[in-house]
Amino acid sequence: MKTSIIGHPRIGADRELKFAEEKYFRKEISLDQLKAVALDLRNKAFEAQKAQNISFIPSNDFSYYDNMLDTAVLLNAVPARYKNLGLDSLDEYFAMARGYQGEKGDVKALAMKKWFNTNYHYMVTEIDDSTEIKLVGNKPFELYKQAKQAGYETKSVIIGGFTFLKLARYLGNKKAEDFADAVANAYVDVLKKFNELGAEYVAFDEPILVTDLNKQDIELFSSIYKKILANKGNVKVILQTYFGDIRDCYNEVCGLDFDGIGLDFVEGKKTLELVSRNGFPKDKILFAGVVNGKNIWRNNYAKTVDLINKIKQYCDSENIVISTSCSLLHVPYTVKSETKLDQSYLEHFAFATEKLEELCQLGKIISENNTQLLEANQKLFTGDRIKKDEKVWARMNALTEKDFVRLPEFAEREKIQREKFNLPLLPTTTIGSFPQTTDVREHRRDFKKNIISEEEYNNFMKNKIAECVKLQEELDFDVLVHGEFERNDMVEYFGECLDGYIFTQKAWVQSYGTRCVKPPVVWGDISRAKPMTVEWSVYAQSLTNRPMKGMLTGPVTILNWSFPREDISLKESAFQIGLAIADEVLDLEKNGIKIIQVDEAALREKLPLRKADWKSDYLDWAIEAFRLVHSHAAPDTQIHTHMCYSEFNDILTDIDNMDADVITFEASRSDLTILDALKAVNFKTQVGPGVYDIHSPRVPSVEEIVDAIKKMLDKCQQSKLWVNPDCGLKTRGEKETVASLKNLVQAAKQVREELK
Ligand code: GLN
Ligand code: ZN
Repeated sequence: MKTSIIGHPRIGADRELKFAEEKYFRKEISLDQLKAVALDLRNKAFEAQKAQNISFIPSNDFSYYDNMLDTAVLLNAVPARYKNLGLDSLDEYFAMARGYQGEKGDVKALAMKKWFNTNYHYMVTEIDDSTEIKLVGNKPFELYKQAKQAGYETKSVIIGGFTFLKLARYLGNKKAEDFADAVANAYVDVLKKFNELGAEYVAFDEPILVTDLNKQDIELFSSIYKKILANKGNVKVILQTYFGDIRDCYNEVCGLDFDGIGLDFVEGKKTLELVSRNGFPKDKILFAGVVNGKNIWRNNYAKTVDLINKIKQYCDSENIVISTSCSLLHVPYTVKSETKLDQSYLEHFAFATEKLEELCQLGKIISENNTQLLEANQKLFTGDRIKKDEKVWARMNALTEKDFVRLPEFAEREKIQREKFNLPLLPTTTIGSFPQTTDVREHRRDFKKNIISEEEYNNFMKNKIAECVKLQEELDFDVLVHGEFERNDMVEYFGECLDGYIFTQKAWVQSYGTRCVKPPVVWGDISRAKPMTVEWSVYAQSLTNRPMKGMLTGPVTILNWSFPREDISLKESAFQIGLAIADEVLDLEKNGIKIIQVDEAALREKLPLRKADWKSDYLDWAIEAFRLVHSHAAPDTQIHTHMCYSEFNDILTDIDNMDADVITFEASRSDLTILDALKAVNFKTQVGPGVYDIHSPRVPSVEEIVDAIKKMLDKCQQSKLWVNPDCGLKTRGEKETVASLKNLVQAAKQVREELK
């Protein structure tokens, strides 16, 4: 049976591309040196695929920064401000990706957005009325030729015209429809080139097809592809979808003249149903996404074979190609890089290289009936992978309604807390972290490596906390924080404290550009062996009479930024983590911490792509997991939460249902329409819509902040409004932080005076 992948990771098993690019940016290596690194990485990816006999090896899945940006450049959607810099092509490309500041000018980067339901971010194409879409680039052709020279006949993979248009930002009056003809023509030209090059297959990625589409969308899609496909020549064209099913347009897709269609049977809840109900066109190849391209776990061959047998009822065997469900961009390189974890862990992992092997083995099992491979794989799933933590499950099974409902209800608590804390109007606070200066990072690292003793480390941290408390008192903040100096990362810190987590050495996944993340792995049942934050918070509280916020990360965010288990549901994992954090809340409370912030920075991140699935598949348990964390907190304990964005208009009621007492979020960069929305749903939770943007080193003036607060007051009850920055200050320098915070407090005081 033939096999295919949609894309291979490109950053390198040792993040070679990242390091080479960063050197190039610092002018430490030449463009040719950077190109050589890239070429080598591409060839290594080809070799890895060849070693597993992958039949459809992709090219053009490589990118120096991002495939969407590549497509914008390919199609001439380069805003004038970048062209005007007069840079060489790759430098112009990097200017779009990262901004440019130098002798040729000063321009900001394009905006960046989350790529569907992944943690990857793409660059948002800007299109204005003067943008002339046409084929101008040559990257796909060059990479195809290079691969051919190296001995590989590849299918070039290019982001399709419909997804390209749907994800672009339109700055003028023209909209996607107005560019449909130009886009179709450009792709016709792409296929013309591939015809000239003698390519056999080209794949167009159209992941947007798995989202909610209306009639006009589908018409736009069809019109673009009718034109493209009428001019395809001898090249066979594959339409590739992933991250879900294409329920809104399955029949339209099947009716078009594609030679192959790629469907996702892993995340696509309805894919099998679509195929079985409507059939699959006899004259097309089905690229069946059956090996999960996002998780890190071994494929269960028996289940996959079973799935393929079902598919065979609707599609001839020889027309089925088995594939990953999405690009392998979203998984780490190879388990072989992990030298510290025991084999008993590693045998359950499949990263990109191992997934190639899985495709190969599945192919053999299906066409050659290789039972040996099947049986070896079965062993991974028959024994107990982990020892069940009976205590954890007993607690989970004993959960009842009252574990999710905090009493008394909000209005009553609000009264009690107002009396207890007696805070001024517009209370001031920060989100938690203070600048992580080099000395902080060095001490953490040295402690981990046993270079300094625990005592030395603790003393250093205590000094930092004391300085931080003193600074906040001097600045005259109302609710203080300890500064989070002991934390490298808001999820990793808790992962390391919790039982059930394991950590890899090199399981990096590209997040954007040269940035990678290394999520911890939920291996077993999660529990808390001992208090995780109490000591630091209690020490910080001992230094001041003002309330000190305890600082925790919420269960949904911890889970969303980890590699989750798949043998239990996400809901179950979230509840396990929730129970552990709930214990921490009660311990903090018991030790005199009366305000506790539970960050849910990533709550929105895993919201399903289709609205119909939001509640049932996600929000129902995600909100419950948060409620679990604080349901047993005393009425006079104030629970805060924080989110790193303000795009939650569409889930406001759910956010309110988290039943926190205060929520802080990012609002400084948005137009404050969120405040209208809060009013409209009668949002009960007190709010701190960040008054300035911490993502920039700029120091906001007092007037600016006063202005922001006043705008907020127009739309929000004064008794419910908090004044704070829009996120943690960890990545900022000390000087600009102090200056900004000073202005923040002064602005709050000034407005308070005016309100008297
Ligand atoms: N409390 C965390 C901090 O201040 C929150 C970080 C975040 O929102 N990403 O760093
Ligand atoms: Zn934040």
